[in-house]
Amino acid sequence: MSRRVLRALLGFVMIMAVCVGGGLATAGTAQADGCYTWSRTLKEGMKGSDVTQLQIRVSGYPGYNAVLAIDGSYGPATKAAVKRFQSAYGLASDGVAGPDTQSKLYALQDNDCTPIHFTYPELNKCNSTWAGGKVAAGTAKANALSSMWKLEAMRHALGDKSIRVTSGFRSVSCNSSVGGASNSRHMYGDAVDLGVSPHSLCTMAKQARNHGFNGILGPGYPGHSDHVHVNQGPNHHWDASQCGV
Ligand code: ZN
Repeated sequence: MSRRVLRALLGFVMIMAVCVGGGLATAGTAQADGCYTWSRTLKEGMKGSDVTQLQIRVSGYPGYNAVLAIDGSYGPATKAAVKRFQSAYGLASDGVAGPDTQSKLYALQDNDCTPIHFTYPELNKCNSTWAGGKVAAGTAKANALSSMWKLEAMRHALGDKSIRVTSGFRSVSCNSSVGGASNSRHMYGDAVDLGVSPHSLCTMAKQARNHGFNGILGPGYPGHSDHVHVNQGPNHHWDASQCGV
């Protein structure tokens, strides 16, 4: 082996050592996250934008027929939602969002802050800008994000089997072209249509009652024999009479 090849080889080994060392250091801290990283343990009584970030991610755990307020204030409802989230993932259920709970949330999110099993394009087959609806593009996109976290909770509760999204955000023109209702929540970005299989429509309509959706329309409601519609609109409206919802 020539000296030059040996030197190159040694250099390569040193670079590899640095890479492996860096990798281990990252794994050891375990807090780095491409989307959002909390800097403190969160618990009841706290306020802040970090609480808001937590609330978005546990908004699918409000309990039956309830909606968790995303208000940056860690009250009893947030504590109860965190407890349900912890139980759902086998963590100690104390209602305090410490390192274990935060790590689980990091594991459940992508770098764009969407939950791992749902994507922005999936929630917006209309355009890539989120513009042209009944609210500002940023609001529509934020509404879609919280819908996705609710669906992630529902997906987990249904045995980690996929949930098929057939429609999400629609601009006013997209909504007209598919024949959507003139006041459809799809134009606000907070409505999602779910298609059959692997779950039946009634399984999803019933389960959605536990995950923070004010609107649930399904079999038995006009125009909803082939999908379940869930939304986060301000009005409570559940109607899937063939499912007992
Ligand atoms: Zn719909």
